[in-house]
Amino acid sequence: MSKYKKIESALIHGGIYGDKQTGAVNVPIYQTSTYEQRGLGENTGWEYSRTGNPTRAALEALIAELESGKAGFAFGSGMAAITAVLSLFKAGDKIIISSNVYGGTFRVLDKIFNNFNISYSIEDTTNPEALESKITSDVKAILIESPANPLLTVTDIAAIADIAKKKGILSIVDNTFMTPYLQRPIELGVDIVIHSATKYLGGHSDVVSGLVVVNDDELADRLAFIQNSTGGVLGPFDSFLLIRGIKTLGVRLDRHVENAEKVAAYLKNHKAVKNVYYPGLPDAQGYEINKKQAKNGGAMISFELYENYDIAKFFSALNLIALAESLGGVESLACHPASMTHASIPYEVRQKVGITDGLIRLSIGIENIDDLIEDLEQAIGESEER
Ligand SMILES: *Cc1c(COP(=O)(O)O)cnc(C)c1O
Repeated sequence: MSKYKKIESALIHGGIYGDKQTGAVNVPIYQTSTYEQRGLGENTGWEYSRTGNPTRAALEALIAELESGKAGFAFGSGMAAITAVLSLFKAGDKIIISSNVYGGTFRVLDKIFNNFNISYSIEDTTNPEALESKITSDVKAILIESPANPLLTVTDIAAIADIAKKKGILSIVDNTFMTPYLQRPIELGVDIVIHSATKYLGGHSDVVSGLVVVNDDELADRLAFIQNSTGGVLGPFDSFLLIRGIKTLGVRLDRHVENAEKVAAYLKNHKAVKNVYYPGLPDAQGYEINKKQAKNGGAMISFELYENYDIAKFFSALNLIALAESLGGVESLACHPASMTHASIPYEVRQKVGITDGLIRLSIGIENIDDLIEDLEQAIGESEER
């Protein structure tokens, strides 16, 4: 974080603010692929928009500042960001991932990077001591999410960063669910932070994008090289949309979380609900660790209904809450991880890590809380088998 500003102000004024040339308070959308050079070998600092674009650069400076890192990189999706980070590794290297990471992260490792002989192993990262023995000499990184998708499992980020440092490998955190407003992994010692900025950072379900932040010059150089070489960059207009979204991240998240805490308490006390997964509930797995490393429990909740409730009926009965993939937008969404976000994970693996067919995941939006609870109440009622 900038040493001059609190995060609420850095969200609005961080990175590159406005436009010096005209005084515009917003960074303009530099919708250009190339830049005229003054003469041979005399450019303006900008040559070609895959390599660099001023609107994208403003976004990259902003996310670096918000995550307390040295350099930021913007990509055309969260998966493009993850792919760029995984491109740091070479044949023979192995990556440890936590047991419920985003389905697409598992898929790209399993189906793409495996072909290049970069392997992975799935481990329970909630027990850092037990993890240490799994770090064989071929392991070059640990990639975690906390809270992880979709069971909101909390991992001690500082403990993972310490182990990685001790073993001389990289620690990587996908911070999509928390954002720098709630949790800043680099301040906890992590090497690389990844975002699907499609989610809370964009915040309005209108842009697909990804971000990476690092806190080390050599890593920054290598990622800049990968970004320019493989080319999965974010366009100027989408960069502008993200800068615009990030300005309201603080106020949005305050409301998201306020609503989520109330929905979690409501579900917790409901007779139809078997399990609630929300790191803001005092009896949740990892509650104390989450409290130590994040501002609060965030706004994602997963839950299971008892067997005598039909979840297909539950999803079709929802009115206000939309059945959709994704999360982090102002509107509340419900999803069925087993058939949607985590369908690319084999059935047996899903059972092993607790992604049951009855699991429902909610991304709590910023609507009126009474309307949200009323919608859940009637949908649970409709789903009861009599
Ligand atoms: C959505 C998501 C991704 C993938 O991002 P895209 O922008 O959809 O490519 C990665 N990690 C997490 C935690 C996500 O929720």
